[in-house]
Amino acid sequence: MSECTFTPSMCHIDLPALQRNFARLGKSAALMPVIKSDAYGHGLLPVARSLADVGARRFAVGTVSEGAALREAGLTQEIVPLLGGVNAEDWHRAAAHSLVPLLADREDLEKADFCCRPDKTLRVALKCETGMARLGFTAEDIPAVLEFLRARPHLAPALVLSHLACADRPLDLAYTHAQTERFTAVCDSLRVAFPDMERSLANSAGLLGLPETRFEVSRPGIALYGGNPFAGTALENCGASLEWVMSVSAPVLCVQRVKAGQSVSYGRIFTTPADMTIAVIAAGYATGLDRRLSNSMDVLIGGRRVPQVGRICMGLLMADVSSLPETRRGDEAWLIGGPVAHGQRAVTAREMADELDTISYEILCRMGAMNPRTYG
Ligand SMILES: *Cc1c(COP(=O)(O)O)cnc(C)c1O
Repeated sequence: MSECTFTPSMCHIDLPALQRNFARLGKSAALMPVIKSDAYGHGLLPVARSLADVGARRFAVGTVSEGAALREAGLTQEIVPLLGGVNAEDWHRAAAHSLVPLLADREDLEKADFCCRPDKTLRVALKCETGMARLGFTAEDIPAVLEFLRARPHLAPALVLSHLACADRPLDLAYTHAQTERFTAVCDSLRVAFPDMERSLANSAGLLGLPETRFEVSRPGIALYGGNPFAGTALENCGASLEWVMSVSAPVLCVQRVKAGQSVSYGRIFTTPADMTIAVIAAGYATGLDRRLSNSMDVLIGGRRVPQVGRICMGLLMADVSSLPETRRGDEAWLIGGPVAHGQRAVTAREMADELDTISYEILCRMGAMNPRTYG
């Protein structure tokens, strides 16, 4: 059967840029790259392989299924599924594939114990709650956790994790300090019994900007993909050298002259103030562009920015290319990234996110999931 694609738009993933970002984040022995949610839309297997090629020793995935896929692709790194086991099958697959499941409550401990093969130790990671009110053991739970684990030598606690709520907000530093202190206290009590447990607290922001959150292992996600968690803050310089890994292109389908006073696209939210040249581009909300960006985003054509005009459609959008008279059908338009002309700036996921009052993570996940991907 021939492959069926519903759009000619394309996500371009720059794996060498990913590898350079990884190298910028420090020694690979101290890193657990986070590749959950299909590597933030960049593709689980290509991203994992490319990081393995430059020395990654561990991976944090979301589901056990993602971890199993990495094993089936031949990857031998330590793999921590951050969601732990969600059903009975997950627990058995985690054990069968020697994943390091994340245990966040008493029931997880019991499930992990139950799925262990008696002849084989299962390495596990413990999740501690220090200020997200999400998943994990609290300080009060630790004595019972220790008692449970001491009685089950086939469960080997390899790692202790917690997650920072606002490390990317320098003005909230006191909260991060408090989380770090709570984490340290929990780790201290666990490591009396299990001195070899490695500690992991930092996300990208912690790793880049707050050395006291690094411990043995940091878990960078967004920074790998080029997002600076401190963009727009006093700590902006900490992530300034990162390179975006994803860019998104779509072809120009036609270029037409439109007379002054003509409305463009659905709902008539844009009317040409003068005679204009309008390019029709094959991308829309079905390919990951939020429709609320209508009339408020730029696209890059021939390395230059032009404004998008009118409602973004399902698979089409229009741009005012009056300033670029040489634009032709078949030209590549770049919605994110792409080659820039001298003195011009590419459109970034961050810029789109700001416009939508969200974060670049959401833009990347959506663009990556909703467009075909190509790797270079
Ligand atoms: C997603 C995630 C990370 C990575 O966070 P970034 O802000 O992308 O660096 C780290 N740890 C956990 C538990 C996560 O869920």
